[in-house]
Amino acid sequence: MNTPNLALGLPGMPSAGDEPDAFIRRIAAMNLFRKYAEVIDAPVRTGVEVTRLAAAADGFTIETSLGHMQARNVVLATGAYQAPKLPAVAGNLPQNVFQLHTHEPRPPPPPSSCLMALC
Ligand SMILES: Cc1cc2nc3c(=O)[nH]c(=O)nc-3n(C[C@H](O)[C@H](O)[C@H](O)COP(=O)(O)OP(=O)(O)OC[C@H]3O[C@@H](n4cnc5c(N)ncnc54)[C@H](O)[C@@H]3O)c2cc1C
Repeated sequence: MNTPNLALGLPGMPSAGDEPDAFIRRIAAMNLFRKYAEVIDAPVRTGVEVTRLAAAADGFTIETSLGHMQARNVVLATGAYQAPKLPAVAGNLPQNVFQLHTHEPRPPPPPSSCLMALC
């Protein structure tokens, strides 16, 4: 993570370890959220696609790849990183300006001499 551990406290699980100024790695962050789901007994379901959401008298009706669901409240957290958005200026930069986007799962290493890297 590029946010320090002290910022990872969650309601009911305030401490993210004994190194508040350190930065945990990806697997540790995943395990933190898994543990939190256990601590609060959250009914987490993964790999489910939501195809339709509609307001209902007592909340929302939700169509999913697992079938029909109902909820009192819904949080939309569909992310903003799935579709890379490059500024137009990126296409006008000279070839010797190394560019990469976080969307690339395994970006190429930068050349030994480059002017700039865009993330
Ligand atoms: C390289 C990088 C490093 C980062 N580092 C940090 C950091 O150190 N600290 C920090 O606080 N933040 C960091 N962030 C930002 C953080 O990752 C995001 O703010 C956070 O993940 C957003 O959470 P989210 O749940 O809204 O979206 P996401 O984490 O993008 O999750 C959205 C999920 O919704 C799913 N989804 C979309 N549509 C549907 C649908 N119709 N049905 C079902 N599922 C659907 C997607 O598949 C996805 O799994 C980083 C981001 C990037 C790209």
